[in-house]
Amino acid sequence: MKALIYHGPGQKSLDEFTKPVIVAPGDAVVRITHTTICGTDLHILKGDVPTCTPGRVLGHEGVGVVESVGAAVTVFKPGDHVLISCITACGRCDYCRRGMYSHCTTGGWILGNTIDGTQAEYVRIPHADTSLYPIPGGADEEALVMLSDILPTGFECGVLNGKVQPGGTVAIVGAGPIGLAALLTAQFYSPADVIMIDLDHSRLAVAERFGATKIVDSSREDPVAMVMSATGERGADTVIEAVGTPATFELCQQLVAPGGIIANIGVHGQKADIHLEKLWSQNITITTRLVDTVSTPMLLKTVVSRKLEPSQLITHRFRLDQILDAYDTFGHAAKTQALKVLITP
Ligand SMILES: [Zn+2]
Ligand SMILES: [Zn+2]
Repeated sequence: MKALIYHGPGQKSLDEFTKPVIVAPGDAVVRITHTTICGTDLHILKGDVPTCTPGRVLGHEGVGVVESVGAAVTVFKPGDHVLISCITACGRCDYCRRGMYSHCTTGGWILGNTIDGTQAEYVRIPHADTSLYPIPGGADEEALVMLSDILPTGFECGVLNGKVQPGGTVAIVGAGPIGLAALLTAQFYSPADVIMIDLDHSRLAVAERFGATKIVDSSREDPVAMVMSATGERGADTVIEAVGTPATFELCQQLVAPGGIIANIGVHGQKADIHLEKLWSQNITITTRLVDTVSTPMLLKTVVSRKLEPSQLITHRFRLDQILDAYDTFGHAAKTQALKVLITP
């Protein structure tokens, strides 16, 4: 089969690769029908994720059709259409029993990281019963690719951890796919204001279409002054970091209101400062989280009922044999205006 292989920082290629087989009784092999590229894949290619070693098939998002299952799999059978969670969960370990699937002792974020991922024709999914979700008949399967990672990530790490409240104010730093997913799902809670901050005007225009009440182009405007003037000089109750750089994390610390929460989503490859000399007295909370995908069943219902329309995030479509072009398009988003690129084997 064809698969996108990571060969070390800055290096990748589309290669012929051995088709996966059932290794453990809980495994399923899934034929991928749609996958995508994540900002995290770009972090891997920058060398920010040392657990991902050369020779790995990248990708942790996708939908597909079950090809074969191990003897212990009871929920799924060949032919079932499934959503693949970016987080693999055994359902039995201490962390899984607490709903913290991201730290499953034999799972967590392993797909396209420590085991081969979804940017291929086939993928092996361990703990299939608790790591795949059945797709209801008639669902828009392209839209559901957004449920593997970005929607639960924006919702759990940003909106839930940031305790977005009715009437509250929210500032989201970063209007990429994850920031936009946080924007879409923040609206479940009717915040009074959602202010989106980014350097890219086309992404801000999308944010405005998706329901942002104010947009701030930080290449031209001072985001601190803009957020302060929009919030009566208080700052935002919830500040969501959806970039993953020291500068954006430090910006969040200037935007948060007394008593507020900074909810970090970004994947950080470098250390960042916490300004306790200013924040020690401000009653703030800083949260970090790797998505657990505990909200996936709920989000699936909101997508199927069209309360949430994540297919709006798909800007480009490629075949798997064009995946290097897809990486190029996604990696130069400022020029190409890419949000999510859909890849179809
Ligand atoms: Zn991802
Ligand atoms: Zn577990």
